[in-house]
Amino acid sequence: MKISSVKGFHDILPDESARWNRMEAQAREVFTRYGYHEIRIPILEKTEVFSRSIGEATDIVEKEMYTFEDGDGSSVTLRPEGTAAVVRAYVEHALHQREPFWKLYYIGPMFRRERPQKGRLRQFHQIGVEAIGRDDAAVDAEVVLLLHDLISAVKVRDPRIDLNSLGCSDCRPRYVELLRRFGEQRRDQLCENCKRRLERNPLRLLDCKVESCQTATADAPVIVDHLCDACRAHFETVRGLLAREQVETHLNPRMVRGLDYYCRTAFEVSAAGLGAQSAVGGGGRYDGLVRSFGGPDTTGIGFALGVERLLLAIDEEHDTTRPPPEIFLAPLDRAAESEATHLAHTLRRDGMRVEVPSAGKSLKSQMRSADRLGAPYVLIMGADELAAKAVTVRDMAGKRNFPLAINIPTTAAELRAALVRLRAEPPLEQHP
Ligand code: AMP
Repeated sequence: MKISSVKGFHDILPDESARWNRMEAQAREVFTRYGYHEIRIPILEKTEVFSRSIGEATDIVEKEMYTFEDGDGSSVTLRPEGTAAVVRAYVEHALHQREPFWKLYYIGPMFRRERPQKGRLRQFHQIGVEAIGRDDAAVDAEVVLLLHDLISAVKVRDPRIDLNSLGCSDCRPRYVELLRRFGEQRRDQLCENCKRRLERNPLRLLDCKVESCQTATADAPVIVDHLCDACRAHFETVRGLLAREQVETHLNPRMVRGLDYYCRTAFEVSAAGLGAQSAVGGGGRYDGLVRSFGGPDTTGIGFALGVERLLLAIDEEHDTTRPPPEIFLAPLDRAAESEATHLAHTLRRDGMRVEVPSAGKSLKSQMRSADRLGAPYVLIMGADELAAKAVTVRDMAGKRNFPLAINIPTTAAELRAALVRLRAEPPLEQHP
């Protein structure tokens, strides 16, 4: 019986992995330019890492986490996002005592039990950054510039960056109360979900996808009109810095992020042609998070991009090209196969890409395989060749055969030099 993968958990086959590797390499290159260093956090964390930080009343914590009891009875969770785990590690290892400001990035799988559809999986992958230890607007601007450079480097189609400020612990609660009262007045026009949000998380009224809710809240008060002086000044500085760099951002006063811990600058990036799941990534500043993990009273800002969505948002064919072998060995019988295995091992240890098919195949079928893989040379190893301590070299491009005396094992350097010399020699007409 065939066993398939778990719903929402996908394989990334060799045809696609080349694109993944390229995307990750481009991201690492941009991160290095901005002075970010990689942190590798575990996939499994204690449940409270997420339940405490993301917010009890969020979709993720309410219904999407893969939480289970470990053998010792403790509750553990497959990480649904990276920020909380990075902050947990930052505090656990007292990184702030080593340096005041850290710029960290991570790449890896995240797990959320959402309804799978195009661009939405249960295991998906994020590339994310966290800059922890500074609260000035220049850092917010730099993180958005990094995001912009990153999506430009990987060539996201028609990207759009939305920007908002979510205020601070001073001005936000006052605004949320205002919004709650506004919502109460229109309670009967709201969906069931939003009625619950009214009690637990009124900000989410603003990003409800239900049309009647959008109509009912079209003239809701927006937070940018209710920021305290410090938050307003911070936000204006961020926007000014970005405008100077000619990085286009769109003020979106209805954009609230799904997670509880954001404050002040928040942003989202979307791309054309992704349908309902147009968000490629998002992030923002979090001011209470480090302290809530028992760390110092320091602030951070970060973002995460979904790799699957990024790949959907890039105009690029699947890249099925793989580096061809430099040498294809074609053993014609069992004795030759042993020599071929030995020669291949020696050459591979020397850094050469070598392919060896099974000896049971006919020479014709081996040649077809070599051709399909794009090998420039086939070394034919039959009984005659072994007796003569030689191989027959087939130059695939020139379609010519050459005899080559060879001591097995030989080094990659010797073999490469011999192949260059052979090119200049007259060919054998026929394989003996
Ligand atoms: P979030 O951590 O919710 O802000 O998500 C950041 C980004 O991760 C989103 O914009 C998506 O690109 C990606 N993402 C989040 N959830 C999923 C999912 N279930 N499947 C695929 N990508 C996701």
